[in-house]
Amino acid sequence: MAQPKYLTGDKAGIEEFIDKFDAFLFDCDGVLWSGDHLFPKVPEVLEMLRSRGKQLVFVTNNSTKSRADYKKKFDKLGIPAKVDEVFGSSYSAAIYISRILSLPPPKNKVFVLGESGIEAELESENVPYVGGTDPSLRRDITPEDFAAIADGSMLDDDVGVVLSGLDFHVNYLKLAIAFAYLRRGAQFLATNTDSTLPMAHAFFPGAGSVGAPLVKAIGREALALGKPSQAMMDAIEGKFKVDREKTCMVGDRLNTDIQFGIEGKLGGTLMVCTGVNSKEDILGEGKPVVPAAYVDSLGDLMG
Ligand code: PLP
Ligand code: CA
Repeated sequence: MAQPKYLTGDKAGIEEFIDKFDAFLFDCDGVLWSGDHLFPKVPEVLEMLRSRGKQLVFVTNNSTKSRADYKKKFDKLGIPAKVDEVFGSSYSAAIYISRILSLPPPKNKVFVLGESGIEAELESENVPYVGGTDPSLRRDITPEDFAAIADGSMLDDDVGVVLSGLDFHVNYLKLAIAFAYLRRGAQFLATNTDSTLPMAHAFFPGAGSVGAPLVKAIGREALALGKPSQAMMDAIEGKFKVDREKTCMVGDRLNTDIQFGIEGKLGGTLMVCTGVNSKEDILGEGKPVVPAAYVDSLGDLMG
């Protein structure tokens, strides 16, 4: 199997690699920053690529934030970026629901298991929703709730979709309501199905782990709209008019970012070793997902 090309310190190799592409899709956490820590030379690399006329798109699976929230984060960290260059899994789910599913009203309401980023993006596409950050659902389930879910009086007849993302306030009441909608035939979507969430130099349960009880209970998977879903790639191709052969995906996670680029038949994939996966995961024989190239950190592209 072809081994990935190591570009750190290889000036000619970096030039040749960059020259192959017109557009770069950047994963965010683990590539540009970790939490609130900006990695060295990131603004310089992005500026260098822009000055060579490359198109940049920032593609994140973080469903808790909207594109506008991400723009604020870019500003705070001193990374020049436009809100229109950001493409998150919440936005991906919102446009899938409004433009692809396109359920006829009133049965187009979404029950959200997730945070305000999902709500903001559904609002941006004029998709009605319930659940989400509704404070009345942040409590223990009661015997009355069981009865009201069972007889339908606690349910909204217009819900046609359950959208599951990372919900920091997940509880049995919300799961029971979501499950009831699924049993009534609602479509089952997920912003993303990352098993883990890297945070504070450790791992925590990710969006896929939050939605997993529903998968188990209903006995079918959700359709995920974040990386590596090709519904997200199709939406990016449509919005940004990128030529896949001249596009490179840059990421830190093999089973989301790099898989996304490989399945999408992009011209290239570049892994950075500042996030979830490391060199050991891609070097040697029999590795399931291998990028075309890798660097120790994004700043190494400055040569
Ligand atoms: N989901 C959540 C809730 C996150 O906070 C993060 C990273 O901050 C991610 C997913 C992964 O994001 P990315 O795709 O930018 O690595
Ligand atoms: Ca990442």
